[in-house]
Amino acid sequence: MTGPSVRFAGVSKSYDGGATEAVSGVDLTIEAGSFVALVGESGSGKSTLLKTVNRLIEPSAGAVSIDDKPVEGEEPARLRRHIGYVFQNIGLFPHMTVAENIGIVGRLEQGVMTNDIGDLLDLVDLPRDFAARLPAELSGGQQQRVGFARALAGEPGLMLMDEPFGALDPVTRDQLGEAYRALHDRLGLTTILVTHDMAEALLLADRILVMHQGRIVADETPQALFGGASGDVARALMAVPKRQIEKLGRLGEER
Ligand code: ADP
Repeated sequence: MTGPSVRFAGVSKSYDGGATEAVSGVDLTIEAGSFVALVGESGSGKSTLLKTVNRLIEPSAGAVSIDDKPVEGEEPARLRRHIGYVFQNIGLFPHMTVAENIGIVGRLEQGVMTNDIGDLLDLVDLPRDFAARLPAELSGGQQQRVGFARALAGEPGLMLMDEPFGALDPVTRDQLGEAYRALHDRLGLTTILVTHDMAEALLLADRILVMHQGRIVADETPQALFGGASGDVARALMAVPKRQIEKLGRLGEER
């Protein structure tokens, strides 16, 4: 199975009665089964663009389609059944067990649980006996894995991720990022990842879209961006990981 394609046609979104244009005329096709990262400084419109896909935000103009079907024709709850959504601080219900937290998607949306809890825990590499635990009995990284399991409960083809690793320490962040990338490949998902971490985007995605003031100002493979980023905004973003690599390299030579 391969996840769907996603197309944005002239998508704009303004807030405050038009005073802020968060997203400006985005035209973009995301191929089925691809892993795309949306990067850019804070406030560049990444989250807003992402949320037009599952209708958490309605565009002021333009349209979003999934496999050529406009999302505005779909009832939001129905639409979200086939779209996984993971965000920072996943917000597990503290008084509910892991199993209940994962199952809530199924209950809220009436019988869409197609995976069972044990299989979902296997998928995200958590021991099956964690099903009975409360969120407080899990580390931050483990809680975020539960968030991934919950997002995967309805067997979505498309995953939307908004800074999903943002609240984690660097080691957990790296591990979970790689584990998710493997899952994306194994399940044939389509993934759109919003991150402000350029290194994360470079290491995980097939394609990187750089946003600036609501527009996409670069659309490149990680190799091309790393090799010689196109445009000032992309170059400025790339300067951070490049500087870190240089500094670490120098540290190695000094020893
Ligand atoms: P990013 O995800 O890149 O940080 P956002 O999509 O969250 O960017 O925000 C883009 C712009 O839209 C920012 O200027 C932000 O302040 C504004 N914005 C986002 N959400 C709202 C809202 N609900 N009401 C008003 N302005 C908003």
